[in-house]
Amino acid sequence: MTGSARPAATASVLERIGAIVGPQGLITDHRDLEPYLADWRGFYHGAALAVARPASSDQVAAVVRICAETSTAIVPQGGNTGMSGAATPPATGGGIVLQLGRMNRILELDALNNTITVEAGCILANIQQAARSAGRLFPLSLGAEGSCLIGGNLATNAGGINVLRYGNARDLTLGLRVVLPDGRVWDGLRGLRKDNTGYDLKQIFIGSEGTLGIITAAVLKLFPVPRTTVTALAAVPAPAAAVDLLSLLRDECGDRISAFEIISRRCVELVLKHIPGTREPLARAHPWYVLAELAEASEGGSLQREFERAMERAGERGLVLDAAIAASGAQREALWRIRETIPEASRVEGLLYRHDVSIPVSRIPDFIVEAGVALEHAHPGARVICFGHLGDGNLHYNVTAPAGLPAAAFVEREMSAVNRIVHDGVARLGGSISAEHGVGQLRREEIRRYKSAAELDLMRAVKRALDPLGIMNPGKVL
Ligand SMILES: Cc1cc2nc3c(=O)[nH]c(=O)nc-3n(C[C@H](O)[C@H](O)[C@H](O)COP(=O)(O)OP(=O)(O)OC[C@H]3O[C@@H](n4cnc5c(N)ncnc54)[C@H](O)[C@@H]3O)c2cc1C
Repeated sequence: MTGSARPAATASVLERIGAIVGPQGLITDHRDLEPYLADWRGFYHGAALAVARPASSDQVAAVVRICAETSTAIVPQGGNTGMSGAATPPATGGGIVLQLGRMNRILELDALNNTITVEAGCILANIQQAARSAGRLFPLSLGAEGSCLIGGNLATNAGGINVLRYGNARDLTLGLRVVLPDGRVWDGLRGLRKDNTGYDLKQIFIGSEGTLGIITAAVLKLFPVPRTTVTALAAVPAPAAAVDLLSLLRDECGDRISAFEIISRRCVELVLKHIPGTREPLARAHPWYVLAELAEASEGGSLQREFERAMERAGERGLVLDAAIAASGAQREALWRIRETIPEASRVEGLLYRHDVSIPVSRIPDFIVEAGVALEHAHPGARVICFGHLGDGNLHYNVTAPAGLPAAAFVEREMSAVNRIVHDGVARLGGSISAEHGVGQLRREEIRRYKSAAELDLMRAVKRALDPLGIMNPGKVL
């Protein structure tokens, strides 16, 4: 701990926390604090007295008890890959960041019960790997899986590329252990698929973005590892054709579709421009692409043949213009790399305004057309970077400055007006303004426009009941 001049009360809080987490569990030097004080896109920058990195649930509980006694705010943090500034402390400082990265043990893998029990600080990719070593699949998968932590995934109810078949983080969770805002521990670490003994409390904490308690461990569902996987990138003439293709594939291949992503041409161009080693995926450019993946547990089955037949039929109906089916693991990776590096390529390109929206799948083509027309009318030349998990009705609909204009100035000046067009369009079609990225600080004001007074009152009542002192991640969500 560095001993810069601090009020005695603060010094005493930090000393008490330090005594619990040990010297390697407390960061106070301002240079070492830096990575924990900003979000990965650099949109938000905050301040904190210290970062506490406890090594066990008991340590988390003891730290939280001190914070509750002293009304010290706590910002839980996982891998800090969130998209809504929810893990960044407020600029006013005065609180601590509680980072769970040291709690990274796989506690149990029960292959017969198809469950894995993990501490909240496990990196998502490590959980996938542990499951695979036991011949099981943990299907939560997203671009940040090498650095996001499962506690963060649960606190944001992360989605990713396999929601279509396996559901989001909420659907993959059977039990949780949570440290409550007063420092008590709720042990709901149960591996049960049926448990109707009252309210399903874990659901309150999943997706609560650290505002109701600290998730310290979880029991997660496992599935059979698919032995046959078919991955294809198909060019489609328009989003409506992509929706029809999804419907056709569902008719022909059933629920073996595990991912169905839409990618606009502009996204592919950004990836080719900024991500080394990427190549034009098809012989010529097309306005829209679909990246589809199908998987089944058995080996040597008929999946590939059925898929190819379905794609032929789609071609005959004009739904598919061209397609590449991955013939090897390397080709599959190359196709996925195009999809997964879009956020990074967009970041390198420059500031843009991000929307993470969900709409009933059938209405997505209407949304893309209507929002595109309205934006072009209000902001001629504004560029839309549109991609996402079409199979779940989830679009990342990002808007940036017309070519040649400074992106930062455009975003700052036009942000509210662009939001209005996009989010009102989403609301008109019965959608949600945050599909998988949460509310954080980014959408905190915005949700008040789209949620009813009754819904907001219920959310505030839950917050007051669990966190009457308001110390858990203040300024986020509500
Ligand atoms: C390249 C890239 C691709 C991405 N793709 C997707 C995607 O496809 N789908 C998707 O859903 N997201 C995606 N994300 C966003 C992000 O990865 C997810 O939101 C992820 O779940 C956040 O996990 P994290 O550990 O980084 O959490 P953080 O960013 O550290 O925290 C997120 C929120 O959770 C809270 N929190 C963290 N840990 C805990 C805990 N143990 N207990 C209570 N609260 C906690 C924080 O306070 C904060 O509110 C992507 C991000 C990147 C950078």
